[in-house]
Amino acid sequence: MSFQTDTIHAGVAPDKAYGAIMTPIYQSSTFVFEDIGKTRGFDYTRSGNPTRKALEDSLAALEGCSCAVAVTTGMAAIATVMHLFQSGGEIICTDDCYGGTARLLSTFAEHFNIRVHFINLRNIEGISEYVNEKTRAIWIETPSNPLLNLVDIAAVTAFAKARGLLSIVDNTFLSPYLQQPFKLGADIVVHSTTKYLNGHSDVVGGAILSNHPDLDEKLKFLVNALGTCAQPFDCWLVLRGIKTLVPRMKEHERNARIVAEFLDSHAKVTRVFYPGLESHPQHELARRQQRGFGGMVSFELTGGQAEVERVLRGTRIFALAESLGGVESLIEHPATMSHASMSSEHRLAAGITDSVIRLSVGIEDPDDLVADLRQALA
Ligand SMILES: *Cc1c(COP(=O)(O)O)cnc(C)c1O
Repeated sequence: MSFQTDTIHAGVAPDKAYGAIMTPIYQSSTFVFEDIGKTRGFDYTRSGNPTRKALEDSLAALEGCSCAVAVTTGMAAIATVMHLFQSGGEIICTDDCYGGTARLLSTFAEHFNIRVHFINLRNIEGISEYVNEKTRAIWIETPSNPLLNLVDIAAVTAFAKARGLLSIVDNTFLSPYLQQPFKLGADIVVHSTTKYLNGHSDVVGGAILSNHPDLDEKLKFLVNALGTCAQPFDCWLVLRGIKTLVPRMKEHERNARIVAEFLDSHAKVTRVFYPGLESHPQHELARRQQRGFGGMVSFELTGGQAEVERVLRGTRIFALAESLGGVESLIEHPATMSHASMSSEHRLAAGITDSVIRLSVGIEDPDDLVADLRQALA
């Protein structure tokens, strides 16, 4: 089936009891056994749940892999994956990753004696310097948050494979519709389904995907052992969101391009970060490894803090809020909001100055979005 057909049908079959076309919400902690030692496929919701399984089957079909596990949040996905590694190991991570990822990975470094090197993964030759016999994995996030830098997934996974390291890709920013990391050599993919996959800002959720029998079993074991599994109602919401993933992503992308071009031509904007602009230093890589450019746009303003605050307070449609990927447009200030949990040294080293503003472009009428930004910048 094509991707778009899979978003509607994969993992979902009319309910066996009454033929309900929508997957029922099995809001039950436990399941009655048919006989001693004989279940109807499920025994306890932490270990498995029919609504969760429908979402997991859908996600595995969309990412093109053998296993998906739905967990409570994107951070739960990342925390669960980190349990694959043992004390004494080392991990290499992209330096401008999601703020919560940086915080969690640094905490792990301290508490569990796992060393994490945050480095610029755009420079492939530079990675070798950080690889030694203790290195276990390379953590990729592309496009990055909030600067929309890209990592060449195929090049980094090839580098990792040649050295026996796992490649993990956070695919939240593009969704499986716009980027397919397993086809580019990834071993594990993580998602915050809170963002584009659900797309309606009404649930927090996460997913871990893998494509190797050994990893599949380990990850399922960890989710059951740690209890990081997603709740049935949350799974149902994400499953419903996925059905409109393709048309939503097309609208997000169309609007983001219009907004990026408007900002690019504005006198008060010094830089626009959007991989769809030809001026983006990695535009060619974006064309090669992504099906599209996504709905996130960041920009840097001239003027100081007062000007940044004026714009953040001045929009009427773009709401001042963290998160991204919902149908409504959001504006935020990485230095004090989404990336406040990163140390200021780490932020500045990654190029996230205090003048950067991030937009999650929604699916409103693009004329209204441009008019809103125009009046806020005036
Ligand atoms: C939001 C986000 C996360 C964390 O997900 P939650 O659902 O908020 O826990 C991880 N990675 C990226 C890229 C994100 O945008």
